[in-house]
Amino acid sequence: MSRTPKLPEVLISEVGPRDGLQSVQATMPTLHKLRWIDALVAAGLREIEVGSFVPARLLPQMADVVDVVQHALRHSGLTVMALVPNRRGAEAALAAGVHKITLPVSASEAHSLANVRKTREQMLDELRAVHALRRDSAPGVAMEVGLSTAFGCTLQGVVAEDDVIRLAVACVEAGVDEVGLSDTTGMANPAQVRRLFTRLRAELGARAGAAHMHNTRGLGLANCLAAYDVGVRTFDASLGGLGGCPYAPGASGNVVTEDLVFMFEAMGVRTGVNLPQLIAARAPLQAGLPSEPVYGMTPEAGLPKGWATA
Ligand code: ZN
Repeated sequence: MSRTPKLPEVLISEVGPRDGLQSVQATMPTLHKLRWIDALVAAGLREIEVGSFVPARLLPQMADVVDVVQHALRHSGLTVMALVPNRRGAEAALAAGVHKITLPVSASEAHSLANVRKTREQMLDELRAVHALRRDSAPGVAMEVGLSTAFGCTLQGVVAEDDVIRLAVACVEAGVDEVGLSDTTGMANPAQVRRLFTRLRAELGARAGAAHMHNTRGLGLANCLAAYDVGVRTFDASLGGLGGCPYAPGASGNVVTEDLVFMFEAMGVRTGVNLPQLIAARAPLQAGLPSEPVYGMTPEAGLPKGWATA
């Protein structure tokens, strides 16, 4: 397979241990989580969202997050990221030593109320509080926001692009280092992705963050490519598409890391990820969650003849 090695590199941010595990019913035993993270690192992933700092009574899947963070921190060169819904969660995450915290802010008011029981304005207050905490106690820790429902909302329907951009700017003003856009509901299309990320990058410059795409309607990779074409270089994805919707067989929620890595590597865009080793990282995932389906076209089809990952 001929590949042009000149194209810019991308960062694949693996969100399976958080986004994926949080959306399945079963709880993966800690030991399996650690093995899975080790396998992801061995495959070359440099950033992993390892869990969320939420009360265990709300999300028992994340009760061991401190242990998971401690383990992940032993991998030098790995950016250990965790989701924090509020200041209290941020306090715990910073105490655990994470490198990066990510906060969920909804572009749709209806989703914001349903998801975090706060209005968008109240979430901005929370961001300011988290920013102050970070500034005073852990200034080296990065703080990012993924704007959920940025491309549409199942509750509200259309989300105005002006609202998304205004909110992204407000997040930066509240102290956030990077703001990305998430297609939480799988409603995005490539033209919209192109338009919105172009505007985001024009408004925020280097503070424009990751594309978090879902494959609910089969457009996950097309949307990632559209984002790449307008300059996005960080992409969230989940191994085996973990977090898939159980009501849409064959359709996964998160973009499948294996397929995303295949697309970029085949294009000559370096990901730093070794695809055969990435596919091997499905074994500890499946061992820890035996009843959960995994998705992905590339693992099913196998790698093309002559495939070599640099
Ligand atoms: Zn997701």
